[in-house]
Amino acid sequence: MQIARVALDVPLPQLFDYRAEGLNEAHLGCRVLVPFGRRQRVAILMALDQHSEIEPARLKSVMALLDEAPLLDSGLLQLLTFCSQYYQYPLGATLFTALPGRLRQTEALREAMPQQVCLTPAGQAALAALPAQARLQRQLFQALQQGGDWQVLVSMGASAPALLKHWLTQGWLEPVRGVAPELSPTDGPTLSPDQGHAVAALRELGAETALLFGITGSGKTEVYLQRLAEVLATGQQGLVLVPEINLTPQLLQRFRQRFPTARIACLHSEVSDAERAREWLACQAGERDLILGTRLAVFTPLPRLGLIVVDEEHDASYKQQEGLRYSARDVAVMRGRQAGVQVLLGSATPSLESWHNAQQARYRLLSLGQRAVAGAQLPEVVLLDTRRAPLRDGLSEALLRVLRQQLQRGEQSLLFLNRRGYAPVLFCDACGWQASCRRCSARLVWHRGERRLVCHHCGWGQAVPQHCPDCGNQDLKPVGSGTQRLEAALAEALPEARLLRVDRDSMRRKGSWQAAQQQIVAGEADILIGTQMLAKGHDFPNLTLVAVVGADGSLYSADYRASERLFAQLVQVAGRAGRADKPGRVLVQTAFPDHPLYVALTRHDYPAFAAQLLAERAQCLFPPLAYQAILRAEARTLEQALQWLQQARQLMLPEQAADTVEVFEPVPALMLRVNGRERAQLMLQSTTRAALQQRLRAVTPQLYGLPTPGVSWTLEVDPLDV
Ligand code: ADP
Ligand code: ZN
Ligand code: ZN
Repeated sequence: MQIARVALDVPLPQLFDYRAEGLNEAHLGCRVLVPFGRRQRVAILMALDQHSEIEPARLKSVMALLDEAPLLDSGLLQLLTFCSQYYQYPLGATLFTALPGRLRQTEALREAMPQQVCLTPAGQAALAALPAQARLQRQLFQALQQGGDWQVLVSMGASAPALLKHWLTQGWLEPVRGVAPELSPTDGPTLSPDQGHAVAALRELGAETALLFGITGSGKTEVYLQRLAEVLATGQQGLVLVPEINLTPQLLQRFRQRFPTARIACLHSEVSDAERAREWLACQAGERDLILGTRLAVFTPLPRLGLIVVDEEHDASYKQQEGLRYSARDVAVMRGRQAGVQVLLGSATPSLESWHNAQQARYRLLSLGQRAVAGAQLPEVVLLDTRRAPLRDGLSEALLRVLRQQLQRGEQSLLFLNRRGYAPVLFCDACGWQASCRRCSARLVWHRGERRLVCHHCGWGQAVPQHCPDCGNQDLKPVGSGTQRLEAALAEALPEARLLRVDRDSMRRKGSWQAAQQQIVAGEADILIGTQMLAKGHDFPNLTLVAVVGADGSLYSADYRASERLFAQLVQVAGRAGRADKPGRVLVQTAFPDHPLYVALTRHDYPAFAAQLLAERAQCLFPPLAYQAILRAEARTLEQALQWLQQARQLMLPEQAADTVEVFEPVPALMLRVNGRERAQLMLQSTTRAALQQRLRAVTPQLYGLPTPGVSWTLEVDPLDV
């Protein structure tokens, strides 16, 4: 009897056996339909066998084979199997994470739409006779004379997609497919010596990982483009990963301009399910040359992969925070290794992990010194000492003075404060009451415009109380500043300035961020007030001043990564100041002007700051000098969560004293309550990755066997937030 061993999208670590006839090795990686419980489900065929542990009488049969060729090729299966093991996440659920939503379902696949179409002679004849009043038809016909890009054609009118599909079935159009177009990249600028050296070194490097270190504007993207041109020229595919917010139309356009004939796939969270499935299949068929995508694109099937680029490799958005908690950067490095392909990581402020790897010569470090455009200067960073200058609503008189000068010069300023809302705390002087969330151990943030208090962790909100609920005091005070309060204070202090606030609240509507960018470029705002949304992405040519307020809070945070993040954020936002012809300035309001972070910032000295952080991490044995995994549990009460973790800890404790894996005691999470559930966690740590992995492999399967009344748990390997 033949047994099919399949992976299902369920939170269980094992594979499942079914009877199967007529399947062979060539079907591994194909989807099959199987009965599971009372439902039918899609599964992926992982292995064929003659024997099963299950009694023959209880074995059910595979109902159907859904694919003719494997959906997941052996390379991708290998990568995903590795991810499942490394991240201790069930194989089935891991495989399904990599598939576009549409392909996880039974729904028959619609035929992939072609990317380019052209008229057949029959189409020429039939459509030439169109009556004049068939406006859209005639427009499409006209556009098709030069051959047509499907995406452009379908967007020409509401009924264009239906018309075009009809013409395809009539045989009036045919897809231009399969043949790679002649790749003729347009010429880039002449590379600077640093860029030239980097490109030459990468050419020599082979299938290794390189870290390209250079400030914003130093020309990293030019290096990527140059390397991609070389890779595409040999008929290979290039994969470029970017943080979600950086995948802007401007970036896409830059790639399109350089590679006008390359077939580019764009994969990110706003692409529709149908489109994503279509592009995914096109990549798999080798019909895309360049893939520009966010986190999830790291799992795109690419039979001719030649280079992986990870831009802004330090960005936290590469880490998936639910389900398969993977780091797309780390998976990219692993994928490169497995596929024998070069991986190029780029950043102005590399993650300490990557920096450390470069220092240890595991990655090749390549640096770009100056700003690429001749004459462009690094912005001058000045610290405004607030110890001697009283703040009003978070603003010092010195800062206001500079903002006034900017106004007089007609240049734009950006005020950076990474906290939205009006005030982070609403406080009663009389009794000490603070507004807190009912479901989380978090304070409610006052949103003045909406007259509401909102929890930034679970979204729960309530109207602002008229008086203190504990003592009746009517004089409740806002403490601290959010972007809304800053905006209000500026409106009062500088009534003549045109203000524009950019944060998740003000940019909630789709397209509003796009519109705001245009407004800024058009010079319709004098002062921008914003969170990290403004720190990334677009260049604003008339923006010459960046002022940072309220950053001190992250200097002495309980989270040891806070200062690493703050530095990256400040360098990024500082990079917004000034362009080629206009030098920029950065002002940082702080009560700690001697803090090493600010000192390094004023000197533009990431390496010095990184060296200092690495020394601290080595002293405390924190990553990247140690490897961690966190087991988290949540339940209705903290007691239950801790109890469950205690049981788990017994399983996890080392058998021998000499073992290098430490298993800490369970502790309440920093954010104890979220959404009405209480959370606890325990940390496993080792100085070697292999020892930690070995322990996790041994104990994770047993965790599924622990009784879990009312407890849900997750295991996270290489956590970013502790
Ligand atoms: P990064 O990716 O490091 O931020 P970019 O590659 O985007 O830097 O370069 C910043 C700007 O400088 C861009 O406008 C780019 O077109 C330009 N640029 C990059 N390299 C050169 C070069 N060698 N000569 C002239 N301009 C360049
Ligand atoms: Zn009170
Ligand atoms: Zn809450």
